[in-house]
Amino acid sequence: MNRSSRNKRPLKKCYLKKDDKVKIIAGKDKGKIGKILKVFKKNQKVSVEKINIVKCHNKPNAKNSQGGIIETEAPLHWSNVMLMCNKCMSAVRVKIQQLEDDEKTRICKKCGEIVDA
Ligand SMILES: [Zn+2]
Repeated sequence: MNRSSRNKRPLKKCYLKKDDKVKIIAGKDKGKIGKILKVFKKNQKVSVEKINIVKCHNKPNAKNSQGGIIETEAPLHWSNVMLMCNKCMSAVRVKIQQLEDDEKTRICKKCGEIVDA
């Protein structure tokens, strides 16, 4: 039986997946396009290739005797990215469509094409 979820806030579902092509719509890398490296469902963040690069200063340790600066992609909130549609060649809003076999697919609201990597 389904319990009523009336009192719960609707949870915003994440429609982003690894290897998706996304456009950054906010922050210092606004306007750039990158590929999703990882989705962090718990804190609703994604890390995108070459986007939001931060430099970590590492002290020398057993693994890395030199130490030094490591550049890494810092995760950004997924509301700051938008999925790219290959047909529209731009960042688009998508809607989730449930297929018969319970699979969910993402449809571009602009052209109606399935947006999938
Ligand atoms: Zn489209």
